[in-house]
Amino acid sequence: MVPTDPKSEHPVAIALGSNLGDSRAILVATIDQLSQDPKITVQAQSHWFQTAAVGPPQPDYLNGCVSLLTTYSPQPLLEKLLQIEAQFGRVRRQRWGPRTLDLDLLLYGDRVIQTPTLTVPHPFLHERAFVLAPLAEICPGWVHPVQEQTIAELAKAVDYTGVQQLSD
Ligand code: AMP
Repeated sequence: MVPTDPKSEHPVAIALGSNLGDSRAILVATIDQLSQDPKITVQAQSHWFQTAAVGPPQPDYLNGCVSLLTTYSPQPLLEKLLQIEAQFGRVRRQRWGPRTLDLDLLLYGDRVIQTPTLTVPHPFLHERAFVLAPLAEICPGWVHPVQEQTIAELAKAVDYTGVQQLSD
């Protein structure tokens, strides 16, 4: 992996999702946790979206995205996200099953990363309406470094059935 200059700030996009517990409170507290980290500056936050779950029958999700500037390099940032997930009591009962908090590292500048623990851009980013809808609100011009299309272009190509923007 190419080393990251520890002093420089890197633009990052993160997806947040929850469908167990008080999802709205959990997601708001997650953004608060991120903004309290001295290595992170939260730049923009999308609306929340209520989305029908894929996988086994389970409650609808609340989804959203945030953009950040961070001095974390990618792997330590992933570890920070996993630590916040654990703090909110995420229990991995079944693959694709319900969860109190799911955090995905979607984009890290124009970096393409493939390690055993981290794939960036997130492998499903370009095909998931519940990610592209909020992401297109806050960073429409960001070019996906693998698909070589902007987030706005990718967002035009997906089906929004089951994805509903909430008013606040
Ligand atoms: P999941 O439970 O499906 O959200 O998967 C979480 C695991 O996926 C984490 O432990 C990471 O090691 C791995 N992973 C790989 N790429 C990413 C990414 N871009 N964002 C978040 N987790 C990732």
